[in-house]
Amino acid sequence: MRKLFLVLLAGLLFLVIPSMHLSHAISLASRESFPPVLMYHDIKSVPVNGFDVSLEDFKKQLDWLQQEGYTTLSAEEFAACIKNRQAFPEKSILITFDDGYQGIYTYAAPELAKRNMKAVFFLIPGDFDTALKDYPYVTKKQVLELAANPNFSMCSHTMTHPNLETSSPAVIKEEVTKSKKVLEDLTGRPCDLLAYPCGNYNKGILAAVKEAGYTAVFAVNDRGMLEEAARFSIPRIYMGTIMGKNNMKLFKYSVEHYKEMPKEAFAERYKFFKKK
Ligand SMILES: [Zn+2]
Repeated sequence: MRKLFLVLLAGLLFLVIPSMHLSHAISLASRESFPPVLMYHDIKSVPVNGFDVSLEDFKKQLDWLQQEGYTTLSAEEFAACIKNRQAFPEKSILITFDDGYQGIYTYAAPELAKRNMKAVFFLIPGDFDTALKDYPYVTKKQVLELAANPNFSMCSHTMTHPNLETSSPAVIKEEVTKSKKVLEDLTGRPCDLLAYPCGNYNKGILAAVKEAGYTAVFAVNDRGMLEEAARFSIPRIYMGTIMGKNNMKLFKYSVEHYKEMPKEAFAERYKFFKKK
């Protein structure tokens, strides 16, 4: 009888101990697992639209992050933490830029490099060497120059920036798989992360990015996805003059409160924080 008790006890410990160990690893099931993620678009000397950030404000934001002891992560470092189910470094932050406008090459990259800070650029390979009014995109040559710096990661924002929610499954697959391959072939580095165009996604799109082999994918709003889906729908802090001019108070508040920000704060962009 005693022997049976010991066998049962050993069995119980066998079951309990590994789960105790696992509880120290990150679960990745919610936003609290991730470091704050900033979403920039263009940096301009004089902002034109709500999603531009002036060079002057950008410098202040980087200086503050540095003074406060934040550690910026590269895409490779961010992906490695997820792949290894390892906690992110204390006080880490991910700086991201969408669309690949010229300002990332002219203003953002030099300011980041001066401070030895890392960033992720979500690029649209189909738009390289082209221009929107007031918003020329980076050239292939500039992308190669940026990618030569290990602190800068060239990741996917799809091939042509369509609205994936209204695209066919075949188009979604092509957009997410081709952009990954084109960027990896061009830079010789992994493209583990993607940002959904305009932050739009649904269950089918989520399955497609997972299937394409991305480690984590970024949205804009927080739709409260849980479990496996959380890392394929990470919400980001929308940066831009939309925050109000020179609004350092708002910037600091949103970085410091990313993990506990209510969902509406992302959906309503900065309306929520304007009250703070
Ligand atoms: Zn975009």
